Amino acid sequence: MPTLTPVRTGGALVDSFGRVATDLRVSLTDRCNLRCTYCMPAEGLSWLPQPELLTDEELVRLVRVAVSLGVTQVRLTGGEPLIRRGIVELVAQFAALDPRPQLALTTNGLGLDKLAAPLAAAGLDRVNVSLDTVDRAAFTALTRRDRLDDVVKGLAAAADAGLTPVKVNAVAMRGINVDSAPELLQWCLERGYELRFIEQMPLDAQHEWDRAAMVTQAELLERLSSRFALTPTAAQGRGSAPAQTWLVDGGPAVVGVIASVSAPFCGACDRVRLTADGQLRSCLFARTEDDLRTTMRAGASDEQLGAQMVRLMAAKKAGHGIDDPTFLQPDRPMSAIGG
Ligand code: SAM
Ligand code: SF4
Repeated sequence: MPTLTPVRTGGALVDSFGRVATDLRVSLTDRCNLRCTYCMPAEGLSWLPQPELLTDEELVRLVRVAVSLGVTQVRLTGGEPLIRRGIVELVAQFAALDPRPQLALTTNGLGLDKLAAPLAAAGLDRVNVSLDTVDRAAFTALTRRDRLDDVVKGLAAAADAGLTPVKVNAVAMRGINVDSAPELLQWCLERGYELRFIEQMPLDAQHEWDRAAMVTQAELLERLSSRFALTPTAAQGRGSAPAQTWLVDGGPAVVGVIASVSAPFCGACDRVRLTADGQLRSCLFARTEDDLRTTMRAGASDEQLGAQMVRLMAAKKAGHGIDDPTFLQPDRPMSAIGG
């Protein structure tokens, strides 16, 4: 657990430890067109009912209020954000906010071949594409869909559209992509994509996560070092950036690891999350959330919505506590929170 000293809160999204939330993750939907085994069961989940989802207008309003409270980066996620109808127009509306936030997207890449150029034209700045393996059989087993080619096309379109640096996210999993981690890195290097491995977190809907079986940053680095010379970059202190990065064979290419479990970065966290049904969460692992949708639909003013955001963030806990014996997995899975 990080050691943080309580401080007095101010008017922005500041918590009692002095951390300021500037990075808003917005889930556009809890639905998805893949079924990654570490995320959801084969049959999917019981999706949020349509009337509970924020409309485009409501989404833009809440993001505008958050921006007025100091949010400078908005990352669209899900579920799979690209399956939300009207995503290009939404991005254009976020890009028209003043001050304009940086706009990023986390996607599984399906449909990105067609959407990358319009999204870039609408104002999207960056993209992270999730791709855990480039072995077709392993990809199909892991995602339960034979769609590797579509992800590969999506990645190429993102690079062509200038959504650079194109980042590839891979959740490290024993028996799936750890032995082949050097091949995945080589594949990304050849295409100019920046690979970041993610330690698997207890956020699966099936509650099957096992700390003892989890692949740690240390194990990954050992595996990658069998083929590449890795040198820590200057960003090793990493601030609020979750990935620690290493130069590959002297650089300039880098590889990152997001060690949320074995080396948590809660002490420098600058994130806040808005779910597709309008709940604000101060942490992926929060056990509570704040219902902005109901407040908004009851006729609240922007000031009242802002005050509710400020109150929730002020109560943000010091850390996620995954390694504490008392840790409890949140009720919502990752796909319903927004990763
Ligand atoms: N569907 C999109 C995608 O896969 O990129 C966006 C949502 S997904 C929940 C966001 C990110 O969370 C992905 O990179 C995914 O691999 C990662 N993720 C999902 N479940 C995870 C888990 N249990 N531990 C760590 N990362 C996870
Ligand atoms: Fe869908 Fe992303 Fe979850 Fe995979 S990780 S099932 S792509 S939401």
